[in-house]
Amino acid sequence: MTANPGLHPRPGALAIDAYVPGKSKAPAGVRLHKLSSNETPLGPSPKAIEAFRAAAGSLEIYPDGSSTALREAIARAHGLDPARIVCGAGSDELLSLLAGAYLEPGDEGLFTEHGFLVYKIAILAAGGTPVVAPETSLTADVDALLARVTARTRIVYLANPNNPTGTYLPFDEVKRLHAGLPASTLLVLDAAYAEYVRANDYAAGIELVSASENVVMTRTFSKVFGLASLRIGWLYGPEGVVDALNRVRGPFNVSGPAIAAGAAAAADRAHIEAAVDHNARWLTEITEGVRALGLEVTPSVANFVLIHFPREAGRSAADADAFLTARGLILRAVGAYGLPDALRLTIGSEEANQAALAALADFVKGGDRG
Ligand SMILES: *Cc1c(COP(=O)(O)O)cnc(C)c1O
Repeated sequence: MTANPGLHPRPGALAIDAYVPGKSKAPAGVRLHKLSSNETPLGPSPKAIEAFRAAAGSLEIYPDGSSTALREAIARAHGLDPARIVCGAGSDELLSLLAGAYLEPGDEGLFTEHGFLVYKIAILAAGGTPVVAPETSLTADVDALLARVTARTRIVYLANPNNPTGTYLPFDEVKRLHAGLPASTLLVLDAAYAEYVRANDYAAGIELVSASENVVMTRTFSKVFGLASLRIGWLYGPEGVVDALNRVRGPFNVSGPAIAAGAAAAADRAHIEAAVDHNARWLTEITEGVRALGLEVTPSVANFVLIHFPREAGRSAADADAFLTARGLILRAVGAYGLPDALRLTIGSEEANQAALAALADFVKGGDRG
């Protein structure tokens, strides 16, 4: 593999299958609808764009290394203590920093069967051992998770709601999971899609973080806030975890334009409400519309749906992917998540959603298969 056998990364690094992002290309001349990465069709708050542009005037200056303005804006929006918030270059960075800070070689990191792929990458990169708990009905299963906890389990990642399934655990179940973990195991609640959830029995986890010493919640500006390109995430955690992350993170891990735009975005409630309303309406329309075509759709509380296809020549998920791509509709293949017969569709603009429903109808009818 290498021309220099004396120089090699740790074995865990080479056990990683590099993350493959959602596609973003359509054939020439076709109108592209990128519905593959759970981005918002409404884009960011105009106030965030304005703050980003203003930050262009001071690019030669290092940013505030503790992201103070951003932490204060987040703290105001959620009623939190800014000292218990750590910001990162996307929540992906924080998920990795947690593994790096808490796993020793041989320690186990636990996550669920169809859980977000970054967890496995973070655990392996840190020299830890990934352990997978099976799911029930494409949903995290607390009993299955607890059954896989050992004396070496140092970290448990739970995406709630989960990507790519769109399913969630009610807060009572999250609390039951926490209650079953030893105090020496860190529970990471990845609430990247929390804003979208309208279920009464859901909570992102702030209350549990506040009441415990071994729970953190991660959030992102990449999804409903529409700032994926800027790479902004944050974490709310107990003092000890916050202190550890502030030691291991890069001293300027969030850029100045990101701090400025994120702080403006956090304060614009109306923009978020518009994005959530748009999503709620289309989540229902798409779920019902696709089911009416005879395809199974996993019930989702997020801004995407998992659509299941039969494993039959001409009707499979791979066939659908090719058919939709030819029409400029880019969905996410989820074979890497152990779901080879499904595609994930992000809720898009009205135009994109209508185009997706029409194209899926043609596909099911066996229309122009190209
Ligand atoms: C998109 C996503 C994230 C956010 O990643 P960023 O690094 O903040 O862009 C985190 N967790 C899950 C489950 C996601 O789907």
